[in-house]
Amino acid sequence: MSETANTPVDASIAEIGEILKAHQSFIILSHIRPDGDAIGSQLALGFALMALGKSVRLINEDGLPENLAFMKGSDRIETPPAEPLDVEVAIALDTATKPRLGDNALHAASKAKLWLNIDHHISNPKYGDYNLIDATSPATGQILYDLITELGLPMTPESRDAIYVAVSTDTGSFQYPSTTAKTYEMAADLIRKGLNVGEINSKTYDDSPYRRLELMRALLNTLERSDDGIVAHWELHDQTRIDLDLRPEDSEGLIDVIRAIRGVQIAVFFEELPDGKIRVSMRSKDKRIDVCQIAMQFKGGGHALAAGIRMPGPLKDAKALVLEAITQRVNEVKSTGL
Ligand code: AMP
Ligand code: MN
Ligand code: MN
Repeated sequence: MSETANTPVDASIAEIGEILKAHQSFIILSHIRPDGDAIGSQLALGFALMALGKSVRLINEDGLPENLAFMKGSDRIETPPAEPLDVEVAIALDTATKPRLGDNALHAASKAKLWLNIDHHISNPKYGDYNLIDATSPATGQILYDLITELGLPMTPESRDAIYVAVSTDTGSFQYPSTTAKTYEMAADLIRKGLNVGEINSKTYDDSPYRRLELMRALLNTLERSDDGIVAHWELHDQTRIDLDLRPEDSEGLIDVIRAIRGVQIAVFFEELPDGKIRVSMRSKDKRIDVCQIAMQFKGGGHALAAGIRMPGPLKDAKALVLEAITQRVNEVKSTGL
């Protein structure tokens, strides 16, 4: 296998295994504003490689969010160092586009000779030299479970727990339609390997800071619904973030509250970011209304039923554009039933 592939290559688990075996030093990266799948994937693969005696750095542009600090081994997650690291291989996990790794993280990885891209986003343009993209997988963590088990890599307690958190958080606690029998079989296997399911669920879901509930109260005050009841949306203003001293991860998963409304097929969360951009988070309950397609109209991406955008503000304009695109798609589906 050549050191530098010129054209992106779809790689099998076995081929990724050869690359992992043939190299000694790795930088493992995940996306900005990391979620459970991003950090969980870094820990899962990172600790498997460390157990093989490899040199591994786990770098995230925004560092470790407070809500995931309970994860075993999470103190190994670092923000990017100022100077590029001397590593042979960079591995991007759970990251739909290369810029979503963040500028500082990309700089830290800039000396890597080889890029691996392991992900489950259908919109991923395969920016690695070797790409393992499985859009049928509910989480990148599940791809890594397959990788670790098929290659016979060590399943350390850190990797085992991290895979569970990755998959649990990306499936809304094993609820979304992307969850399959294989996902539950994987979870059963992790429990057999010693995972404490009650404890890990409690740490993941039953330990919210009070300000998260104050945020929910503020969001509920902005809740709106389209006349037909199909689209529900709420929004987070800059001032609320300041008043409540919010952290980026505080809103993680709250969109499920409005997604759960009877009759609602599309839930949207608009957020004013400190840099003036608008973060848009979308969920669909109807695969005919593919929110990844809508996100891609605005240079965002994700999955058919869960996608996101970062777009220019102000909030009012972003809202108008995105809601218009959603309404157009809803009307198409209503009129053609496609
Ligand atoms: P979120 O709404 O932030 O939970 O994101 C939903 C899904 O869309 C996740 O899988 C994200 O990784 C993906 N996603 C969110 N924002 C973007 C973006 N700006 N570009 C590409 N993918 C995104
Ligand atoms: Mn993610
Ligand atoms: Mn994911």
